[in-house]
Amino acid sequence: MDFELPEELKALKQTLRNFVDKEMIPIERNTLEGGRLKPDIEKHLKEKAKPLGLWLFDVPEELGGQGFGMLARVVVWEETSRSIALPSRAAALFSPDVSPILLGLTGALREKYLMPVLRGEKKSCFAQTEPDAGADPAGMRTRAEKTDGGYVINGSKRFITGAGTADFAQVFAKFKGEDGKDTVNCFMVDMKTPGIKLGRQLELMVDDRPWEIFFENVFVPDDQRVSSGREGAKLAQAWLNAGRLRHGARSAGVMDRCLELACTYANQRKTFGAPLADRQLIQDMIADTAMELHQLRLMVYHAAWKFDSGQDIRDEAFMCKVFGDDRSFRSASRCMQIHGGMGLSKELPIERLFRDQRSMMITEGPNEVLKMSYARRVLAKYK
Ligand SMILES: Cc1cc2nc3c(=O)[nH]c(=O)nc-3n(C[C@H](O)[C@H](O)[C@H](O)COP(=O)(O)OP(=O)(O)OC[C@H]3O[C@@H](n4cnc5c(N)ncnc54)[C@H](O)[C@@H]3O)c2cc1C
Repeated sequence: MDFELPEELKALKQTLRNFVDKEMIPIERNTLEGGRLKPDIEKHLKEKAKPLGLWLFDVPEELGGQGFGMLARVVVWEETSRSIALPSRAAALFSPDVSPILLGLTGALREKYLMPVLRGEKKSCFAQTEPDAGADPAGMRTRAEKTDGGYVINGSKRFITGAGTADFAQVFAKFKGEDGKDTVNCFMVDMKTPGIKLGRQLELMVDDRPWEIFFENVFVPDDQRVSSGREGAKLAQAWLNAGRLRHGARSAGVMDRCLELACTYANQRKTFGAPLADRQLIQDMIADTAMELHQLRLMVYHAAWKFDSGQDIRDEAFMCKVFGDDRSFRSASRCMQIHGGMGLSKELPIERLFRDQRSMMITEGPNEVLKMSYARRVLAKYK
């Protein structure tokens, strides 16, 4: 077994660490407005990031990207997550946020929707969650009915990040197939289509301000229904796995930062005549964070290696997301406790790390639901 990162990835990790320390951390408390990067900051950071040569690092080569392997992607996600400079759900410094649905588009749909997103000309949103269907999307009520030359969509969506600035939405709706059974399909829908209305923008404890969207007799032409099939299912699974690894890698970055902040403060802050670092209750928190970070890194790097060698990583992907999101939240909480009142202050990044990591345990699959799916896989092995 070889636990060393390849030399080129060690170099990439160090380069990114220097970049985050020098360019992101010093400005991190002043980069967002309404949950998004301020345009001048985005321009500034993208300019600074250009020499790193990472643009489109996670986009396949046949689409003009660099097609980095998973291990390399994990390195990028982990290192950039040490800072709160970027929005936690759209950390698109080196690449626009592209869903597997978009990456899987072919022909005219690829030209119309994917390529402009990769060129930075169009923005999209991902509209699946509804008031009655979140963790369990099968309960969705939005429906697409067949009509001449297309479909008519009626329903509503909730919690849709970026809907207010999106040019088009990837809308999920129930649709009666030729066999008479309901299936969920994705439709590419331009946000200017008559019948689409934006509703409330929700104020949350995190910076993201997701939207409600209402669809009233929205016509979508036939060719904007995304047919998935087997290739689509494979792509969706690969994306889900990558998304879960991304949660794990981001959590590792957060824990690394929390450990650094907590140790620095504990070493210099004195109470009752001695540094906090000398107190066993504080040492307990530091040791737990360091151990859990080590566990998580082993999990994430191992899963990435397995992914790159073409193996099935469904089990590992579940573990990386659930363990990572849970332990990074606990690490942020310990770091906050060690800092006392300053831990709650907006002058330090801890309160934001704490809020963001708490929210990660709910989005992109609540931990309970992922554990349920993972436990079923474990139980099946003993049948
Ligand atoms: C900041 C933010 C951004 C988001 N962005 C988007 C977006 O862009 N597009 C989009 O489509 N959605 C988005 N979402 C929605 C997100 O994916 C849902 O909030 C998530 O899937 C949970 O759904 P829900 O909130 O309806 O919770 P519910 O489905 O009502 O579940 C509530 C809780 O019940 C528990 N639970 C559920 N099922 C089980 C079970 N089987 N066993 C045990 N416990 C269970 C879990 O603890 C869960 O947290 C976003 C949400 C947030 C907070």
